[in-house]
Amino acid sequence: MAKHDYYELLGVDRDADQKEIKRAYRKLAKKYHPDMNQDKDTSDKFKEISEAYEILSDPDKRARYDQYGHSGINDQDFNFDDFAQGGFGGLDDLFNMFGFGGRSGGRRNGPRRGADLQYRLKISFEEAAFGGKKEIKIPREEKCDQCDGSGAEPGTDVKTCPECNGQGQVRTSQQTPFGQFTQSRVCPQCGGDGKIVEEACHKCNGAGKVRKQRKLTVNIPAGVDTGTRLRMSGEGQAGEKGGPAGDLYIVIDVQDHKIFDRKGDDLYCEVPINFVQATLGDKIKVPTLEGKVQFDIPEGTQPGTTFRLKNKGISHVNGYGRGDQYIKAKVMIPKDLNKKQKELLEEFAEISGEEINPEHKSFLKKIKDAINI
Ligand SMILES: [Zn+2]
Ligand SMILES: [Zn+2]
Repeated sequence: MAKHDYYELLGVDRDADQKEIKRAYRKLAKKYHPDMNQDKDTSDKFKEISEAYEILSDPDKRARYDQYGHSGINDQDFNFDDFAQGGFGGLDDLFNMFGFGGRSGGRRNGPRRGADLQYRLKISFEEAAFGGKKEIKIPREEKCDQCDGSGAEPGTDVKTCPECNGQGQVRTSQQTPFGQFTQSRVCPQCGGDGKIVEEACHKCNGAGKVRKQRKLTVNIPAGVDTGTRLRMSGEGQAGEKGGPAGDLYIVIDVQDHKIFDRKGDDLYCEVPINFVQATLGDKIKVPTLEGKVQFDIPEGTQPGTTFRLKNKGISHVNGYGRGDQYIKAKVMIPKDLNKKQKELLEEFAEISGEEINPEHKSFLKKIKDAINI
């Protein structure tokens, strides 16, 4: 195969400096890397530009190439072992170099987000209805303030790991019948950090994090219910190596109310009234979330009749307005009447005749019909 000019291959001038050569190579390597080109075979092109870079990035080899052309270069100049260690061997390195995420393989020294936390918060019925602030205490890991998360005692040295030169991973190359096989794994000496701490921080023992009981104020919006999740961004566990903290989720648990039942944003309650109030009607006081209000019981209210108080329910948590309140009339029948009371009721029955129970006739008819079948 005819050898192309190395400068032409990289598209740089003959007097280009190392920076320009490196930039040109990175651009082309990204474009022609075989892993990036599933459709067409670019491996020959990639090999060519890699060779060109191998020679032009080394001042000694470049000088020989400038003087003698391709005849000044021999096979030993392409030391692919060096090539791999130089950081341009695999796609992983390319991705790391160019700031891609997700393909970093065994690399562990990057920043990592902290874990999310969950906290179950018991609140009263009224707190759920009206919202408010509530103070909580959560145990969590926070960035150590003595070492600012580095894990090194302030004033002591943090060295670049000599085993991996700060890469956090080491490469091993193996010659196989199919060619050179390069593998990378987490550096055993620094555990992937790429750095070695001379003296561990006394406060966190080198972890960079400390466990704390943290006091937080939760803002509870009006209308939350059991099971509502509130997210407190960045209030979870501390991140690793400068990564952001996780989130804290507050899961609401609302206590029952003595009077009210809640269904969605509507409230339900029973109001006891006596049979005279049910019969004649009355002004009574009924409980609402905001205290007692006056309510007119209409004449002839039947037991179990439900009345609606509009907009007296719970606020809609994700919008405007609120639910309704329903009150159910619970008609109480008096017991242990005295003689006078009984006499009056008997007199009432006598005057009323059959009118006292207008539905009785049709009820008797229904029984008769049912038995005749
Ligand atoms: Zn520390
Ligand atoms: Zn290392």
